[in-house]
Amino acid sequence: SKPSASNFLRSVIERDLEAGTYASRRFAGTPGDAAHQAAGQPDPAKIRTRFPPEPNGYLHIGHAKSIWLNFSLAQEYGGVCHLRFDDTNPEKEEQEYVDGIAEAVHWLGWRWDAGGVEHRYYASNYFEFMYRAAEALIGAGLAYVDEQTPEQMRANRGDFSKPGTDSPFRHRSAEENLARFREMRDGKHPDGAMVLRAKIDMASPNINLRDPALYRIKHAEHHNTGSTWCIYPMYTYAHPIEDALENITHSICTLEFEDQRPFYDWLLERLAGLGLLAQPLPKQYEFARLNLTYVVTSKRKLRQLVEDGHVTGWDDPRMPTLVGLRRRGYTPEALKLFCERSGVSKAGGWIDYSNLDIALRDDLDPKAARAMAVLDPVKLVLTNWDEVIGSGQTVACDAPVHPAQPERGRRTFTLGPSVWIEREDFMATPPKGYHRLTPGAVVRLKYGYVVRCTGHTADADGNVTEVQAELIPDTKSGTPGADSVKTKGVISWVGTHDALQAEVRLYDRLFAVPQPGEGTLADELNPNSKRVVTAYLEPSLRGASPDARFQFERHGYFVADRVDHRDDAPVFNKITGLKEAWAK
Ligand code: ATP
Ligand code: MG
Ligand code: MG
Repeated sequence: SKPSASNFLRSVIERDLEAGTYASRRFAGTPGDAAHQAAGQPDPAKIRTRFPPEPNGYLHIGHAKSIWLNFSLAQEYGGVCHLRFDDTNPEKEEQEYVDGIAEAVHWLGWRWDAGGVEHRYYASNYFEFMYRAAEALIGAGLAYVDEQTPEQMRANRGDFSKPGTDSPFRHRSAEENLARFREMRDGKHPDGAMVLRAKIDMASPNINLRDPALYRIKHAEHHNTGSTWCIYPMYTYAHPIEDALENITHSICTLEFEDQRPFYDWLLERLAGLGLLAQPLPKQYEFARLNLTYVVTSKRKLRQLVEDGHVTGWDDPRMPTLVGLRRRGYTPEALKLFCERSGVSKAGGWIDYSNLDIALRDDLDPKAARAMAVLDPVKLVLTNWDEVIGSGQTVACDAPVHPAQPERGRRTFTLGPSVWIEREDFMATPPKGYHRLTPGAVVRLKYGYVVRCTGHTADADGNVTEVQAELIPDTKSGTPGADSVKTKGVISWVGTHDALQAEVRLYDRLFAVPQPGEGTLADELNPNSKRVVTAYLEPSLRGASPDARFQFERHGYFVADRVDHRDDAPVFNKITGLKEAWAK
């Protein structure tokens, strides 16, 4: 099925397919993938995209956008999308994050094993190739080892107003550069002593072309390559090579990389010229990153929230991480809907958080079974129960599992002599227009009987501890007498004798400011982002499995917490309300 919104990337791909730009592609023989991609064989995939996270944290809602974009374009155009771990930075990367990322992509519903081939790659598997490519660039006079200090290098790079200054090391011979580069590789120099730089143009108006660094010294263990290397490629050098080695056709990234595109092309064209890569080469395309109001989408800042204890972990249901959103109750389908609707453009901006909840409601409304729940309970006693119904008796009640889908059947529960109702459904002295319980008022207990409120009991502070009412005979929902009495309103309830007691976690936005991340994170937090209550739930929720989602009538959507929920100690999370509660 085609995404509803068209976008510029689809136009680019359609143009390339029509022109046959990538029709004659052959495999380069990707290191670490020799079994599937024999060098020189035609590539059957019409296009190749990739999702290339750095495994230095858990994925967030912004990544969901990139995942959706890359995987859905590949799917739509007969292509393949690679899951590639961009693990070129030894210090911050961990296996825990590699596993977490793979699980998140999988949860979103995407597979990287199209046609029985595992398209899961690690940039670190290409270190050997990257190193050889660097030596080739040195040999061709296109790269040099610079021994300036980092400060000198920064100063000599210049800025937008003035061109840079050549390094005194810029004009060494290829032999000398090669010898020095090998010393770097062999561990002869400490971190920061020198770097390998491309030799392009210190006067370029694009500062990214002023001899960017290609390799740095870092005496650090790598999660995949161990202590094999003490030099590591820069992201800007590694990424184009990764794309080319994997036969990527359309390399999609966010707008921050727009100024890097000339270097991307410079590098790949030079390496093709040196016979190390084959035409046609991948091309980079940029789109605006997703910014969601009241949310930070930066792994660094999310890590800070975890480390500073502002949340319970990466999977705290208030976190915009995919593990957090999942635990909160958001569905993969809702996230996909949200991504599709938010579109793909070149213009940045902030998307209102409410769009995520709208997508969630659109997804869950037809799916979620209904149930009654009382989140702020007070007891309602039906004082004439024994006379009207009979001592020790209960009355069977039922309600549709889903009001628009009768085929899903009925849920059953019973009405007894006392029920839990919402505290806000009784007021001793109500304002005008109050349609719930107040002395003398006649209301319906939903799916049950009509009752007339007769009074209440309060404690010394005036807090209502119990409400009393009389049941009006022959008014049960679904019976001929149901409409014989005029009622002011309908209220939800749960029988005290058969209610399921549960812990309900009421979540709200983690941040109080619409564009967090500009100031101090701790000061921008919403102090009321989590409230835990003891609630009473309809007995049909007994036995709900973790991750099961429901609509609690009048309250919103809830999910059984995937970590803490147990049959004998139920825990539900509020996903979102029935309507948008937040005015902008
Ligand atoms: P962070 O700053 O959170 O670490 P990143 O861009 O450094 O994000 P990567 O792991 O390198 O994280 O990202 C993998 C892919 O996800 C990249 O292609 C990146 O462009 C994309 N991506 C990251 N954040 C967003 C976002 N907010 N919107 C769209 N795409 C994003
Ligand atoms: Mg990154
Ligand atoms: Mg980053």
